[in-house]
Amino acid sequence: MTIPYLHDDAGLPRAWSPWFSHEYIAYFCVKTVDRLTALPPVPVAANPRWQDKVWPAGPRHIDIYKESYQEHRQVDPLWSFDQRKRNGDFARDVPSGKSIEPWKIYLLYSTEPDTYADEDLLLHKNQAMTGGSRGWRHMHFRLMGSTYGIAPKSFRVHRDLARLAFSNGSDYWAWRYLARAGHYLADLGAPFHVRAMPGFYLLRNIFSRGELFHTVTALHQSYEIFVERRFHEGFAPFAEALTRGAKEGQGAPEKLDARLKGYIERARSRQKKIFYHLHDGFGPELRAAFAPMKQGGGHDTASLAARCAADAVRILFKKEHQSRLARLEKITCGSLADVGWMQGALLGGFQSRTSGA
Ligand SMILES: [Zn+2]
Repeated sequence: MTIPYLHDDAGLPRAWSPWFSHEYIAYFCVKTVDRLTALPPVPVAANPRWQDKVWPAGPRHIDIYKESYQEHRQVDPLWSFDQRKRNGDFARDVPSGKSIEPWKIYLLYSTEPDTYADEDLLLHKNQAMTGGSRGWRHMHFRLMGSTYGIAPKSFRVHRDLARLAFSNGSDYWAWRYLARAGHYLADLGAPFHVRAMPGFYLLRNIFSRGELFHTVTALHQSYEIFVERRFHEGFAPFAEALTRGAKEGQGAPEKLDARLKGYIERARSRQKKIFYHLHDGFGPELRAAFAPMKQGGGHDTASLAARCAADAVRILFKKEHQSRLARLEKITCGSLADVGWMQGALLGGFQSRTSGA
């Protein structure tokens, strides 16, 4: 059976759309694990708050419940860059009497770590190097002999919380924790999350630190915007890469931890290729597109970032640039097959852990 493209899945309400990269990844991977897709709905429940001590959430975070929604608008997926803006608004309190299929929980809450959960926290004196506490929890790179970011820990903490929740019969929250674990695991396969810039590039530009970081930010954002755009367009090779990977990975959950290091290393070597490809093909234009971010200037950061992202789209997808995107597509397919493998292995490890099974 072929899996429809996420945004074409007629079984999902439009209120949850538009979808973003993490959700495309979660969807194609969880839909590949047949036993999980067939699990009966679980009742929506209040957060047991086991994570409070080990993993404090950002002060602006609240648990929203997407199971209860009201559709209010129609956002154009091709020009949407803010994960918080969906067609619907969602409940802030536990909706009573609702249940939801586990695979949908894995899908719906895969973007949760990218909203407020990891923001505005003081985690480490070096967190500014990753753009703040969110970056610190979502990245893991080495630079000049130091390591920045704790994404592997973010992954493990949430996998442990999922296990704890399953053992205590709290299936709904187990799936929400697992969705978060899957997010950090996907981030560890995201090239710009595990390497900031190629070492040689750093050495050559070491005396212009501000410029260096501006370039890195512009290329990082641009690459992720490129990938998300292709997902929004329903690009078949990305879906195929994810499902192919997840099909293989689901049968070997015991290998996940041993493979983590190699998974991160492969993402790092892809970053180098992507970095130079974007830098040499679009560098000055993309740097200019993100210049307003550097200046700041009291604007609302989310709307400023969205404006820069829209400019980056116009540059990347210019007609005369089409031929240059093929290489990015190819590298990304390799990357997504890898990401799919790890997601499949993660999910495969939980096939028999649901309390109802
Ligand atoms: Zn992330």
